Amino acid sequence: MFNDNRSKKLIVVAHCLVNQNSISDGTADFPSQFQEVIELLMENKLGIIQLPCPELSCLGLDRGDKVGAMRDLLSENTRIRNLLEEPQNIARLRAKADDVIEQIEEYQRYGFEVFGLIGINRSPSCGIETTTKSAQEEPGQGVFITVLEERLHHKGITLKMIGVKTSQVAESVARVKKLIQIPV
Ligand code: SF4
Repeated sequence: MFNDNRSKKLIVVAHCLVNQNSISDGTADFPSQFQEVIELLMENKLGIIQLPCPELSCLGLDRGDKVGAMRDLLSENTRIRNLLEEPQNIARLRAKADDVIEQIEEYQRYGFEVFGLIGINRSPSCGIETTTKSAQEEPGQGVFITVLEERLHHKGITLKMIGVKTSQVAESVARVKKLIQIPV
């Protein structure tokens, strides 16, 4: 089955790596995609499972404050984090995480390879190695990644996760290469 032209190779990526339009006001580094990373995925024939943007889903494009971009970035990220941690938003993120996991399970059921997940470091929502808390970038995961990881654990699924930053192109590309097992 599925012996057609598809690669059977996939990767899960944060929504804004494919769509910079979703990002909070004042923080987009690219017009549309994180070009170098997405091109690398395409060159290596990886299908993309795009995560939902948790902030867009829970707080809207303006993140609930039309002048949020006037704040310094880490203070604004902290405000966003505090909102995402409200119980109704955690419940919404759990449902969204389960939708993603359903897709991963379905691909794995047929032997497709899911190479891992690329998140966004420093994000209060999608950070992998670093996130924002108390107006500081510090080690730890974003709110959505924490929820997603809990749900993955519950399902017995292990997924390698790395974080990138659109402001650090060469370093991000090197990290993605390592994740998809291309010698750097
Ligand atoms: S890091 Fe996550 S929450 Fe922030 S814009 Fe990207 S997908 Fe949305």
